Amino acid sequence: MRSYLFDTIYPKAPKMISTENIALNQNTFDEDFTELHYRDLIRLAVKGYRVASYGDIPWGERFLLWRHDIDYSLNRSLALAKCENKEGLKATYFFNPHSNFYNIAESEQHALIKQILNLGHDLGLHFDASFHNVSSEQELNQLVCQEADYLQSLFGVRPLAFSFHNPVAELLKCEEDEYGGLVNCYSNRLKSDVTYCSDSNGYWRFRRLHDVLTESKDHCLQVLTHPGWWQKDQMAPRQRIFRSAYGRAAATMNCYDAGLQKHGRMNHTGELVALQFLKLSNPETYRLCDYLWNTEDFKTLYLTLWNILEGQVNRICRVQLRTVWNIPEVEINTFFEQLHLCSDGIVLFKEIFGQKLWDLAGKMEKDHLKWVNLRGSIIRGYSSTNPEKSKIGCLYMCQLIFKLGEYGKRQVFNYDGLRAEEEVLVQKMDSTRRTRFASNRWKDLKKHINVKGKEGE
Ligand SMILES: [Zn+2]
Repeated sequence: MRSYLFDTIYPKAPKMISTENIALNQNTFDEDFTELHYRDLIRLAVKGYRVASYGDIPWGERFLLWRHDIDYSLNRSLALAKCENKEGLKATYFFNPHSNFYNIAESEQHALIKQILNLGHDLGLHFDASFHNVSSEQELNQLVCQEADYLQSLFGVRPLAFSFHNPVAELLKCEEDEYGGLVNCYSNRLKSDVTYCSDSNGYWRFRRLHDVLTESKDHCLQVLTHPGWWQKDQMAPRQRIFRSAYGRAAATMNCYDAGLQKHGRMNHTGELVALQFLKLSNPETYRLCDYLWNTEDFKTLYLTLWNILEGQVNRICRVQLRTVWNIPEVEINTFFEQLHLCSDGIVLFKEIFGQKLWDLAGKMEKDHLKWVNLRGSIIRGYSSTNPEKSKIGCLYMCQLIFKLGEYGKRQVFNYDGLRAEEEVLVQKMDSTRRTRFASNRWKDLKKHINVKGKEGE
């Protein structure tokens, strides 16, 4: 069934793949690993094959086994399980009790697995032999049985089959049909009689599944996909795993915060309390700042906070121009495109609101300029920049952003400028506002800002 070229170059390429095999396909086809493409694959599979269960393999007939080794993400697993359920495909999900990436006994994660099983999918054991240092088939029998008992105690059903996590050559010599009462996905029979197609490492190492299913020439198929590789949008394999791992880390921190809140305990964050306001206004930005603070990367945090402040100033100014000065959107857009001429948001804010930003934080201009200078020295990479000074600067920036947010909320448009939602606000206010186009102020502003910009060139 393979092409002549394939057999000539790789005459000994086995049906069943081991990690020792040299990958024949280095093309990653990132675009293949989206949920949408996954759905298409499921549709092809259901059309071309009878989908079988490991508990009842119809040997001698044309069938397909659809297997998931869960290495990285239970959330991604549930997303695929839902898609399969909708398209009428029953898969088997192999969970690893020793995973570094998830914990099957943790209540939220446990609930995800229950949901997958409730969708009608089968349970399998992803067996990590290296954890036990398995040295004989007898030991393998005992340990597979022991772990199957554990899964059964957690989920109320016994796994039907097991697959090796990282199947090294030594393990692939264990070729019996079953061990510990569970079907062995790497049995001699499955290896020799059933064509295997896997997405290991986030790409099709041998044949592309889409091609295998479209050609539909193989009599029997065992498809292995790892849900961590499948995301909503296309991205490189490492990025897919990054998102799974860091998404879980963020959920763990949320769990800590929510736990304290639920029980009315103090959440002692140290000076990081200065950032708390951002948690409600803009959780994504807060997560980034929280990370930078806790890893003590104060210089990067300092620049990030400046970036937040400048964006906040811009958004609040735009809303003021749209709703209070009644300036047409197209004029404002053109004006803001030219704003690179302007030194920073402080000038803009002063021109539009007649207020000095540092006044909001109860500071003097010279204090503020000190922090502007620190920003410059960090951007230019001066090694003499004291990290402790950056930390104090971060606290100043937090105060400034917070105060500006409060100021924005006191205005007629009631907006802190921390999320890009000025468009919604403007539309909401459009029907009620009665102000007239402040054409003279607008002309003055454009003139003034431009003159300042040209002076600075
Ligand atoms: Zn694995």
